[in-house]
Formats: sequence, structure tokens, C-alpha cells
Amino acid sequence: MAKERVLITGGAGFLGSHLCDRFLKEGYSVIAMDNLITGDLRNIEHLFKHADFEFYHHDVSSFVHVPGDLKYILHFASPASPIDYLKIPIQTLKVGSLGTHNLLGLARVKKARILVASTSEIYGDPLIHPQVEEYYGNVNPIGPRGVYDEAKRFQEAITMAYHTYHGLETRIIRIFNTYGPRMRLNDGRVLPAFIGQALRGEDLTVFGDGSQTRSFCYVDDQVEGIFRLLMSDYHLPVNIGNPDEITIGDFAEEIVKLTGTKQKVVYKPLPQDDPKQRQPNTTKAKEILGWEAKVSRSEGLKITYEYFKSLPQEVLYQRDHKNF
Ligand code: NAD
Ligand code: UDP
Repeated sequence: MAKERVLITGGAGFLGSHLCDRFLKEGYSVIAMDNLITGDLRNIEHLFKHADFEFYHHDVSSFVHVPGDLKYILHFASPASPIDYLKIPIQTLKVGSLGTHNLLGLARVKKARILVASTSEIYGDPLIHPQVEEYYGNVNPIGPRGVYDEAKRFQEAITMAYHTYHGLETRIIRIFNTYGPRMRLNDGRVLPAFIGQALRGEDLTVFGDGSQTRSFCYVDDQVEGIFRLLMSDYHLPVNIGNPDEITIGDFAEEIVKLTGTKQKVVYKPLPQDDPKQRQPNTTKAKEILGWEAKVSRSEGLKITYEYFKSLPQEVLYQRDHKNF
């Protein structure tokens, strides 16, 4: 019998490539679709020889065509790091809006279930702590992060509309800061930034006074949450993240210890609209999916550091992505 087919957009990116691995392991046939704007084929090159894996080089903000049946669609295409979406704001708005619209249309035609990757940025600079799914958020639509936050808010709105008006099977996951192997070392997110600085012998740059908080989830836990939500019958948004909260100042100290760097921690201006605190309330994930984060930060950081150490020197010194 032919295997069920899954389309993963953003499949050459950090999360998308781990999802490709997981769905192949689960016995599906996987199509990864990506325009490589922030992704990298090296994340999926180990899959090219796999009989059940295909790669489509395509920008999902333009009409998406996939021949044959599809059982599931996972829409993960989008720049995800503040530095990336500040450099490519229009593409970010388009992939969250037009791209999502195209994929919802495709899901309708194929009678497929679709899961869209939303984000804790839906909550903006939150006034409620920890963040529960019922919170509407505190987003500045015209600030620098607005291009990402509002695209993702539109994504949730249009996904719910397709669910309500077309009866489409939809799932919405709100992902909180996730890290692990295959993050891009130069993508500007805090973990690759700090580890990259330590490996190059540079000072670690903490933005602001370092009192802002984040809660970091290891990629394997995140992938498990995504898989469980997709397979569930729950169509409202679910937070997936590790509730273990830490200030960025303390996080920098953890990276100093982990890497043994002799460099200092230095302070730089806080970017505009940088959320002051972020921690997921994961009650829904526990109750509905039986999910909770299992990998501690110290465990996850060790694995991720080993990955970054194994990268070739030229990657360590590459400042920009080759495609923008
Ligand atoms: P990433 O940049 O590593 O991956 C995104 C992938 O999407 C890249 O391969 C990129 O080339 C591709 N892409 C972007 N625009 C595209 C387009 N128009 N057409 C086709 N492909 C396109 O980022 P990531 O961390 O893996 O994030 C994946 C998804 O998860 C994103 O939707 C992001 O918003 C969401 N998310 C991630 C996090 C996190 O902490 N990693 C947190 C919240 C939400
Ligand atoms: N940050 C920092 N130094 C860096 C990069 C980021 O102090 O070199 C801070 C950033 O200002 C934010 C936090 O780390 O407060 C997390 O930033 P990231 O870009 O990883 O994710 P997000 O802000 O989207 O949660």
C-alpha cells in the first residue's frame, strides 16, 4: 500500500528539517518545500537518498501545486529570527499571509489536515504572565517586529476562518523559543549568537540589562508536541514550550560556563519592542496532548553546543545568509 504523504513547508529550516526526520521515521512519505531564504539544504542532505523523501524548491507565497494525495500539511515556512525578519520584512508578511492562504487552499483541494506554525510572538510584549492561550496579546503592529507578529496573527485568523467556513481540519501551534542542532549560527537568535561568540572568542552581547526573560525548549520536545497536536482532534491554539524561565543575563552566564570562554559579557541597547518576559502556560498541552517538556536546558545545551562545535570554520565566520 502507498504510504500517506505529508507536505512540510520550510522543510530545509531548523524545525522543518527535524519534522522531515520525524515523519519519515513514523513511516510517511515526506515532501519538503522551501525557497531556502533562511534555510539550508545541508539540514536535509542526509535525506536526499531516502526513497520516501522529495524536495521542492518553491516560494509558498506563490501558488502552490503538489501532484497526488496529501494526508497532512505542516506550514513552517517563515523567517523566524528577529534579525531575519527585519532584513526581509515583506517576504515575512507574505509568507504568513499569502503563503498560509495558498496552503489552506491546497489543504481544501487535497482534503488534508493542516497544522500552522504560530508563535509566542502572538502575545507580543505580554501583560499577562505566564502566557495562556486565552490572552489576546500586546502587539505593536507598526513596530519592527510587527511584520512577523501580525503575519502570524493573520495566519491564525485565516486558519480559523477556513476551519469555520469550510470545515477544514486545522491545527494551530504557538511555539515558544525552541533551540537545537541545525539552527543557523548567524541567524541572530540569542542561543546561536552567544555560542557563536564564545566559539569565535568574542564577547557575549546581552541586549538591554539582561533582565528580560525567555523559556527555552529543546527541539525534540517541540517536535513531539507538534506531532501530538497534529494527531489530536483539537483545533484551537495550543502553546508548546518549556516553562523553565531564565533571564537573558543568567542565560549568558550559563553559556560562559558551558563553553568555558574567557570572554566578557557586554551590554548593548535593547531592540525596540523586545518582550520583557515570556513563559508558556502549558496546561492545555498537558491536558489535551499529555505533553510536557522532558529535556532540561543543561542537557539540551550540551547537545546543541556539540553540534555548533562540529561545524566547519567558514560557517563560524559567515556573517550573512547567502540568499539575502
Ligand atoms: P528557519 O528560518 O530555520 O526555517 C524557516 C524555513 O522556511 C527556512 O528553511 C526558509 O528558507 C523557509 N521559508 C521562508 N520563507 C519561505 C517561503 N516564502 N517559501 C518557502 N520557504 C520559505 O526557522 P525555524 O526556527 O525552523 O522556524 C520554522 C517555523 O516555526 C516558522 O514558521 C517560525 O515562525 C515558527 N516558530 C519557530 C520558533 C523557534 O523558536 N524556532 C518559535 C516560534 C515559531
Ligand atoms: N538577545 C541578546 N543578545 C543577542 C541576541 C538576542 O541579549 O545577541 C536577546 C534579545 O534581545 C531577546 C532575547 O535575547 O531579549 C531572545 O532573543 P531571540 O532573538 O533569540 O528571540 P525572541 O526575542 O524572538 O524571543
